[in-house]
Amino acid sequence: MQDHRIRKLVIVGGGTAGWMAAAALRRHFHGGPLEITLVESEAIGTVGVGEATIPTIRGFYQQLGLSDIEVMRATQATCKLGIRFNGWLREGQSFIHPFGHFGQDLRGVPFHHYWRKLAQAGEPTDIADYSLGASLAAAGKFMAPPRNPTSTLSIFDWALHFDAGLFAQLMRRVAEDNGVRRIEGKITKVKLRPEDGFVAGLDLESGETVEGDLFIDCSGFRGLLIEEALHTGYESWSDLLFCDRAWAVQSEGLDNPPPYTDVTAHSAGWRWRIPLQHRYGNGYVFSSRHIRDEDALAELKAAVPDPLLHEPRLIHFNPGRRKQVWNKNVIALGLASGFLEPLESTSIALIETGIEKIKALFPDRDFAPELADEFNDWSRREMERVRDFIILHHFVRYRWEMFAPPSWMAIYAGFEMLPEAVDPSLDGVDPKALSAPLAEMRKAVREVVASAPPHQAFLDQYCRPAAAASSAAE
Ligand SMILES: Cc1cc2nc3c(=O)[nH]c(=O)nc-3n(C[C@H](O)[C@H](O)[C@H](O)COP(=O)(O)OP(=O)(O)OC[C@H]3O[C@@H](n4cnc5c(N)ncnc54)[C@H](O)[C@@H]3O)c2cc1C
Repeated sequence: MQDHRIRKLVIVGGGTAGWMAAAALRRHFHGGPLEITLVESEAIGTVGVGEATIPTIRGFYQQLGLSDIEVMRATQATCKLGIRFNGWLREGQSFIHPFGHFGQDLRGVPFHHYWRKLAQAGEPTDIADYSLGASLAAAGKFMAPPRNPTSTLSIFDWALHFDAGLFAQLMRRVAEDNGVRRIEGKITKVKLRPEDGFVAGLDLESGETVEGDLFIDCSGFRGLLIEEALHTGYESWSDLLFCDRAWAVQSEGLDNPPPYTDVTAHSAGWRWRIPLQHRYGNGYVFSSRHIRDEDALAELKAAVPDPLLHEPRLIHFNPGRRKQVWNKNVIALGLASGFLEPLESTSIALIETGIEKIKALFPDRDFAPELADEFNDWSRREMERVRDFIILHHFVRYRWEMFAPPSWMAIYAGFEMLPEAVDPSLDGVDPKALSAPLAEMRKAVREVVASAPPHQAFLDQYCRPAAAASSAAE
């Protein structure tokens, strides 16, 4: 039997996507004959943003053998319990989208029906008071979730805010330590095989040629292989998502970073504020159809309270997705595969799921078209559903989607878009009988929050980069 296995995997680009793929795939194919080479150009650089994550990132680096504390120390990270939305519904109003549950389901009926029924009976309460994650975040506190939660009231999850450059460096260290070969150099030409148009190799400015069987395009928005060489095509969603530019700037940090990302509505978009241990990341994502660049910049500068660390950078983007993420022998990952405004910090999570798909559908040199079809279909549905969560049009749960019902609930409640009807099985329940058990739930959440340490105390104890801190939390 002929051996058709992929022998040479070439990753193009050394941003977050490239080094995450290199670290994870090297580990996955450990000990086998696969050679992995990564080509990047320091002269071109990386996009340099992408600092807020969702909890799946923790599973990703744990698979690489890294603990939370190791990653937090290496990347100046802080804890993220969720996202606080400010001024989206009206001036002065805020709500938190936590990574976790709200309340306890009773008799198999989801909690929010009881919560609505109590409100309709004249006792409105804040949904956040039933969420430990949201309540800890609002109080500026942090503790690790209990390993064996005794009730859904104590279930919450957390993610990180990290320095994107330091995270890519960490991934590079893991990848290189495990045998990934790095080539520094600018790719000047992508060579195609005349017989089938597959990518044969990459010419570098140095004169070197890098050949491969399979190429992972992590070259950023331009899509050096997937688009510039293979002309795959891009489906723009600019009719659904108007934002197409961002000003990004880092500012000096303060003590007591909040354990959440702030996203604040602005005149033509929204502003992020991401706390790290040593600084903040800030940015204004806006629609160029509704505001001029210089006016957006002025709004951002006026809103950032601390001294800026450099001149703000303007980033252009086109919301949407590559029509085929896998085309011939090229798979696009990261910004090369598409981009949605970072309102829910989904890009890095999509890199993780992209890597999982590569592992699950890894081809041989015959490149069975069914594998690419499956990969492309899966990627399309996933990206469309993240898009829908961002524009919040639907309320249907699919097995494979990234955001679970409590996330949809958090956003609907925050926007005060609430159903009139409650589950008919509650028709026989006296609303007065709900008052006491729901008050008990709020009390249980309050008591845990009161005993939790401030976020800053947690960072000081475990996560200072140079500290020889105890690893009790690991
Ligand atoms: C404004 C903004 C805010 C964001 N915020 C978040 C967030 O909070 N959370 C989140 O999850 N994601 C966020 N993202 C997305 C996140 O930044 C990206 O998903 C992540 O950084 C991955 O980027 P990348 O590695 O695909 O591309 P890049 O960082 O652009 O890397 C491209 C690589 O390709 C190399 N390259 C390109 N051309 C060549 C060539 N000719 N020769 C050799 N090398 C080449 C470059 O040198 C570089 O190494 C944000 C994105 C934007 C634009």
